[in-house]
Amino acid sequence: MTSMDPVSSSGVIFAADLGGTNLRAATVDNAGNIGYRVKHPTPHASRCAEEIVSAIVAAARECESSLKQHGGTIRAASVVVPGTVDIAAETVLQAPNLSSLDGFRLTDALKQKLGWPVLIENDANAAAVGEMWLGAARGYRTIVCVTLGTGVGGGIILEGNLWRGVDGSAGEIGHISVDPFSGVKCKCGNTGCLEVFASATGIVRMTRESLSKYPRSELNGEDLTAQRVYEAGLREDELALKVLEKMGVYLGIGLANLVHLLNPEMIVIGGGVANGWLLFEKSMHREIEQRAFPVPVRNLKIAQAKCGDDAGLLGAAHLALTSGS
Ligand SMILES: [Zn+2]
Repeated sequence: MTSMDPVSSSGVIFAADLGGTNLRAATVDNAGNIGYRVKHPTPHASRCAEEIVSAIVAAARECESSLKQHGGTIRAASVVVPGTVDIAAETVLQAPNLSSLDGFRLTDALKQKLGWPVLIENDANAAAVGEMWLGAARGYRTIVCVTLGTGVGGGIILEGNLWRGVDGSAGEIGHISVDPFSGVKCKCGNTGCLEVFASATGIVRMTRESLSKYPRSELNGEDLTAQRVYEAGLREDELALKVLEKMGVYLGIGLANLVHLLNPEMIVIGGGVANGWLLFEKSMHREIEQRAFPVPVRNLKIAQAKCGDDAGLLGAAHLALTSGS
């Protein structure tokens, strides 16, 4: 586990969030203030790991030269990766959307080029740390952060410490089974995972499957996105309301499992799909209350994430600040 009591030292953290689409980076100070920001497209998935390293280094140099104009320095780099990370071996084990990083010793490669201490962390784990430091879970110590995006990710913090699991695979909340009979295949190879119902992809699929039953729905004949389904729901489109209600049921089942397992103080829900909160919260709460025991539910807070796209950057920075880097 990582101790999370901030230590003071001079210089700011270079934090980078390596997404499947964009590389976002920024300088972050001890208080979590974001200084200079950089956003570039991530080198295409087919490119080699060295190109990804070069892109991160270029972003770091850009931040560094901006900082130097004001007399500032960078003391460490912390990089968020969309995949499983072996912290002890400083290696990316598997990054489904950036497979050139599979088995790659990213930390070493960056240390050699940057000359600073370097940390790497899984994206959903970093987002959980960011939300605990400066977001919805500020002041809470035992939380679960669920990110509902194209897929479903999760981060677990127990008594202030990130729980990565023995192999760095903890918090894969998207792959909790919630419906073994649906037959809907997940990209992990399993069927009935939470991700196939509570992700943006899942919302679009469920909508498409029911279109023929709702011929008057405004969602017929449109390019479907989860955001469009949500917007149609706000206009009381019957199909959209049905889909988001069902999504809330599955999410509630998944979260009730987490309550049974971890008895958290707070569950934070972030990611683009959390925008549909108003239309899924009722069925989500109902499922949790029906399925989980009353005592852990009574004390449980469920909140929308507050850090938005910066959760990963802030979490990465906090991990570096508290590691003694
Ligand atoms: Zn799965």
